[in-house]
Amino acid sequence: MAGAETGKGRGGKIYLDMPVTYLKGVGPARADALRRLGVITARDLLFHVPRRYEDASTISPIASLETGMDGTIIGRVISKGIIPTRKGLRIFQAVLRDDSGMIEASWPGQPFLDRLIDKGDVMLLTGSVRFYHGRQLQPREYIQLGKDDEGVKGGRVLAVYSATEGLSFKVIRGIIDSHLESLLGLVREYLPQEMLRAAGVPALPEALRMVHRPGSIDEGARGRSRLAFEELLFVQILHRRAHDLAREKRKGVAFENRRELTSALKQAMPFKLTNAQTGAVREIFHDMCSDRRMHRLLQGDVGSGKTIVALFAALLAMENGYQAAFMAPTELLAEQHARTFTSLLDPLGIAPVLVTGSLKSKQRRAAAKLLGTTDPVLAVGTHALIEDAAVFGRLGFITIDEQHRFGVEQRAAISAKGEAPDILLMSATPIPRSLALTKYGDLDVSTLDERPAGRLPVTTVHRPGSARERVLQFVERETAKGRQAYIVYPIIEESEKLDLKAATIMFEQLSAGPFSGRRVALLHGRIPAEERDATMRAFRAGEIDILVSTTVIEVGIDVANATVMLIEHPERFGLSQLHQLRGRVGRGAEASWCILLGDVGEEAFERLRIFVETDDGFEIARADLDLRGMGNLFGEEQSGAATFRVADPIRDEELNVRARAAAETLLAADPELSSKANVGIRKVLSARYSRAMELFRVG
Ligand code: ADP
Ligand code: MG
Repeated sequence: MAGAETGKGRGGKIYLDMPVTYLKGVGPARADALRRLGVITARDLLFHVPRRYEDASTISPIASLETGMDGTIIGRVISKGIIPTRKGLRIFQAVLRDDSGMIEASWPGQPFLDRLIDKGDVMLLTGSVRFYHGRQLQPREYIQLGKDDEGVKGGRVLAVYSATEGLSFKVIRGIIDSHLESLLGLVREYLPQEMLRAAGVPALPEALRMVHRPGSIDEGARGRSRLAFEELLFVQILHRRAHDLAREKRKGVAFENRRELTSALKQAMPFKLTNAQTGAVREIFHDMCSDRRMHRLLQGDVGSGKTIVALFAALLAMENGYQAAFMAPTELLAEQHARTFTSLLDPLGIAPVLVTGSLKSKQRRAAAKLLGTTDPVLAVGTHALIEDAAVFGRLGFITIDEQHRFGVEQRAAISAKGEAPDILLMSATPIPRSLALTKYGDLDVSTLDERPAGRLPVTTVHRPGSARERVLQFVERETAKGRQAYIVYPIIEESEKLDLKAATIMFEQLSAGPFSGRRVALLHGRIPAEERDATMRAFRAGEIDILVSTTVIEVGIDVANATVMLIEHPERFGLSQLHQLRGRVGRGAEASWCILLGDVGEEAFERLRIFVETDDGFEIARADLDLRGMGNLFGEEQSGAATFRVADPIRDEELNVRARAAAETLLAADPELSSKANVGIRKVLSARYSRAMELFRVG
């Protein structure tokens, strides 16, 4: 796992690649347990860094604990036992003592602890104190420190390691303690001195010592920063290299900014570009007018106006005699874009060609014929654009809207449709810069951080379940005025367990009851696609007043007359998802509302408050990341791209920026990492990342 040099230990006994089984004090059973923690070799053990630290300042004297308080204590077990209750629950209880006093600790339903915790053990406990025949601690976490160890007495910092079943913290710490010195002796620094100096992190052996046995919590953090830097650095090196390779020189295509079609659009369109849009268009044109391929991501909040920016880029390609393609994840979105483009481009005498799976065969043949020519057409469509049958005569530019909805292969497939076409990806989940550097490090990124002026903000509120009737009356009044509403539910079928109001059941209740006078329709993922599209078309045409739906309406849809977004069970949604949903209203001239309805727990309430209080997608994404991690924001496929053991791209933002700079400097001087000075880096890279092979021809 680690970047340390391999070598025989002093005395020839211990070496970094040695399986932990052979380490003194380990053996097969413990080695099995260690494997569950990802520790297979001695090197892994050395890089098994503490989860956190405790020091004297975070430990409370037992006497000072008061009812209602949360606290961490260290004490010795002076008695213990299992107490049965009348209801058949078995409770493990122990009394702990330190210099200041005693307290009872209680673990309901965990009688097995009686086998694991002995009288005389010194333990660290964290939990809340309640009153039950006296003060009682209910531990959330416990760590066995051993028999004689008083833990952090005397200001020592206690490194807390992840433990696993069959392998207590005490044992892990014991194993690391007994081998730390000899293992540290085997580790060599392999990153250049100047790089470490510039990044402000310590050298590897020193960092590892700091991490395992810090003199202070700060020192632990400093050691950790070296390990985090290393992880970020490698990801940045890979991104940087992929970035450079993807922008290889193209065979002759450097578009020229002729200002023909693009100027005509500027004249004809009904609004002025925002400054952010102008800036993004400039960045994109700069890329397209160079002889290198463009690989750019355009990110911006819902409604920030990404579509028109992409249209300008398409026109640049077209005025140079090339074809442009615009790919969207659903037929509905593709149709919507086609409609928008038709009206915007009509004054220019350009008509987009729609390419979707549901075209009649005659239309399909006509479209295919047009694409097959070398005429500068604008094709708007779904993944039908990447099917084998779709052949482009002269494709020079591609936009992929809502890019996260496409897989890696689909993105690759469309870029193979032309001869090195320029590519613009669009994402509606804007993320903070630091994360963008990590996640999209091999792309150039343009950001729309401004929304078109003059739009009314969407009023967002959270109402308790008791307000349900009034909220529904409000929706009724809005629709009576001719407005339209969305009502969104998290899942589609009633589940007794979760007791959620499923869209299907609620659709029946709502359309029979409160909205019996309205045209109500149901939309969810198990309805066949054609039927779903027909419903959406009817909603857009104003033939439906209220759309009861799951999140299938989440993406991109633009119905200006919809003014209410009512979301039930809001706690079931991520903040970014809620933000996407909110983006479906407030698209016209009328005032709009986003209403979260339902009673939620305290934690969810706080989380939803962030959403109610801010309309800034970047801020919401950041909060979402803090609360739920990357996987939840991007889905599994997307989050798998960069996983870190130590680093956290959000919290280590500053370090990440330094890692990126370091990667740039490194590759500028030695693009293939072939110099002798960089052998160590190459070694680690190829050992850790399978991608390194294709990027650096290492193996
Ligand atoms: P998104 O970034 O969410 O994809 P769209 O491109 O769909 O946003 O734009 C949202 C709406 O804003 C569209 O109706 C579009 O016509 C409008 N729009 C885009 N740019 C501007 C602008 N500069 N001024 C006014 N309206 C704009
Ligand atoms: Mg969009």
